[in-house]
Amino acid sequence: TNLAGLLKDPALLVERGYVGGEWIEGDDGTFDVKNPARGDVIARVADLSRAQVAVAVARAEAAQKDWAAMTGKERAGILRKWFDLLMENADDLATILTAEMGKPHAEAKGEIAYGASYIEFFGEEAKRIYGETIPGHQRDKRLMVLKQPIGVVGAITPWNFPNAMITRKAAPALAAGCSFISRPAAETPLSALALAVLAERAGIPAGVFNVVPSSSASEVGKEFCENPGVRKLTFTGSTEVGRILLRQAADQVMKCSMELGGNAPFIVFDDADLDAAVEGAMLCKFRNNGQTCVCANRIYVQDGVYDAFAEKLADAIRGIKVGDGLSSGVDAGPLISEEAVEKVREHLADAESKGGKVVVGGKPHDLGGTFFQPTLVTGVTQEMKVASEETFGPVAPLFRFKDEDEVIAMANDTIFGLASYFYAKDLSRVYKVAEALEYGIVGVNTGIISTELGPFGGVKQSGLGREGSHHGLEDYLEMKYVCMSI
Ligand code: ADP
Repeated sequence: TNLAGLLKDPALLVERGYVGGEWIEGDDGTFDVKNPARGDVIARVADLSRAQVAVAVARAEAAQKDWAAMTGKERAGILRKWFDLLMENADDLATILTAEMGKPHAEAKGEIAYGASYIEFFGEEAKRIYGETIPGHQRDKRLMVLKQPIGVVGAITPWNFPNAMITRKAAPALAAGCSFISRPAAETPLSALALAVLAERAGIPAGVFNVVPSSSASEVGKEFCENPGVRKLTFTGSTEVGRILLRQAADQVMKCSMELGGNAPFIVFDDADLDAAVEGAMLCKFRNNGQTCVCANRIYVQDGVYDAFAEKLADAIRGIKVGDGLSSGVDAGPLISEEAVEKVREHLADAESKGGKVVVGGKPHDLGGTFFQPTLVTGVTQEMKVASEETFGPVAPLFRFKDEDEVIAMANDTIFGLASYFYAKDLSRVYKVAEALEYGIVGVNTGIISTELGPFGGVKQSGLGREGSHHGLEDYLEMKYVCMSI
């Protein structure tokens, strides 16, 4: 893949880190970035040492005060420019994203618009960081609440949304007046670095937005947690790594936002509009080839419509076109790695050994590499691995259930609590089920819930904090109570 040759603006493709407004080489050499559709190396990116991350922290600290001192309206103006530049360069940004991550170009372009929407939204919110006045407890007392930026933010993000997972954090951080250090996933640093090119062009001051590519996530994580210059850690990834980071962050009692794993149930009741439910399940399950933390992981279908739903879903799955995301007309790309394929195979083998039936797909795709056939399994039960672990691949497992109470109990029987979905028409059922699901997000008669306008986040072991909506700004603000005697 000659990636630079595919871009209208080849300057968006950078292999160096971005620290304090400078483009730097890595003290630890470089690491390779591969195109998962072809397996070839597309870039050799600067591998920053832990000491260089410490430099980034110092630069971010130095830049933060002036950034916070600007008016919200001034920050909003700069963020608006950044948003505009993302949208103007959406084609190139999507090409870079597809090349390093694999999702189809059209889907990648959707991610760019989605990622950019957070910058637009939080830029606007920068003007509305309202405090509060509270009537005093004594005649001479006036009480005030000020909202102030937390300070330097360290961010660690995964490969499945190489653009949006960063903007979802950077946008509210910068709007609030924090400075930001992004450590992108080693699989997908190029989208983060392209964001930095555009941040620089938008006039975001040096040191306010930094990118520290590194092949050693744990070193960066330690620096973020141990360096007193960092005041907040924001992470998206697995619950396993989230726990490690929370433990590390405890020493400095650091504020943390955590978007962790999910195990989303997708429930289809007898009274659902079946065609709508199939469409929702397709979007929800197969978006990003099943590699999102809000993808349906368990599809529960009520007895009376089970067979009809399975048949319709099977037809829809057979229509998915798998291929290289850079070619046109492709619905699903490769999986990110061999490891990801292994997990899918393991879940399928486990389900089959316990009586599950593969109705569509079930095997590696003829295209080779990490391509896998979109798959439907029926007869799935709570004893199988797919019931308790996130598959993170193109496998739709169908469970059968009898009544509402049974399915709510099964849906909630997990340590996770991020997204959930159900399809039903009966109004009292809709209310009851929406309230009973122990999840941070409930999609009712829809399979797509992500928008910058809503508060995205999980309960239980799926995380802490929210991203998106005005609530998302609070994750980057401190409250200061001022008690004044006049
Ligand atoms: P995923 O399955 O999405 O890759 P992970 O939790 O393994 O989920 O990874 C999410 C991000 O966290 C990645 O960028 C990864 O490099 C990083 N990471 C993994 N281990 C650690 C760690 N010990 N400390 C900090 N970051 C880590």
